Amino acid sequence: MKNSLSDRLQMFVRRTTGRAALTEKDIDEMMREVRLSLLEADVNFKIVKQFTNNVKEQALGEKILKGLNPGQQVVKVVHDELKRIMGEESVGLVYATSGLTKIMTIGLQGSGKTTAIGKLGLWIRKKDKKNVMFIAADVYRPAAIDQLKTIGKSLGIHVYDEGIKDARVIVKNGLAYAKENNYDVVIIDTAGRLTIDEDMMQELKDVKELAQPNDVLLTVDAMMGQEAANVAKSFHDQIGATGVILTKMDGDTRGGAALSIREISQIPIKFTSNGEKMDTLEAFHPDRMASRILG
Ligand code: GDP
Repeated sequence: MKNSLSDRLQMFVRRTTGRAALTEKDIDEMMREVRLSLLEADVNFKIVKQFTNNVKEQALGEKILKGLNPGQQVVKVVHDELKRIMGEESVGLVYATSGLTKIMTIGLQGSGKTTAIGKLGLWIRKKDKKNVMFIAADVYRPAAIDQLKTIGKSLGIHVYDEGIKDARVIVKNGLAYAKENNYDVVIIDTAGRLTIDEDMMQELKDVKELAQPNDVLLTVDAMMGQEAANVAKSFHDQIGATGVILTKMDGDTRGGAALSIREISQIPIKFTSNGEKMDTLEAFHPDRMASRILG
């Protein structure tokens, strides 16, 4: 088996232990390993370049060179810089200070949106002890409504649906229903397409305007790698998202998408979704993701 980046860097650290300082050549050698590792994790090459340049600059700073174990310190800079880019802390859901909390979900078809809604509903009920309801407003794929209803039924979560009609009408009525019935939280499913198109974006804009959501969560498939960041940016530029749910993290991806998404779209990643079972949603931890990406 190939050595992980951490192992390779540790070998380097051992070699340079006791030295008062690293030369620029030493640092370049370490950055070469970091670069290869990030590219293997499918991080966008521009981000990789910028990242290694940043780390090198910091590593060349006096503070580090004068340390007792300069190699070890460079490794720390790599980790810290990754964590910094992905956000130091995990970012939670935004609840309304009073009344109904509205969460709108957006994402491409197949990104795992419907599955993520189920998981999030369960999370909100179990962890935050709130009474949650779903609104089925993905009216482009008839199966999407049935899928959401099946998930809702399995979890005992009510799904408001009116079949196929204008999504704006469904959302408006669904929100009124939730208020009348004293729900704490609604999660709105919206139209997903295979690719981004103008009609879909217009509909999402309208739904957002109408619902005034507290959170707009974008589901992005981690297996898409670098392309995930471009998709996230397009959605964010046009709709404005407050968080990402990175799905399919149970696959063999190293999770380079997390870094690219954060750097290119600037949206914080709030959750990772790790399988088809409903209890596999996790709060996003930048430090854990940093270790996984480094490999
Ligand atoms: P939507 O079209 O965005 O609503 O996506 P779905 O929720 O229908 O998911 C698309 C496919 O991906 C389905 O076969 C899901 O079972 C699967 N899926 C969703 N989330 C995950 C996940 O976290 N891990 C894995 N392995 N599969 C997932």
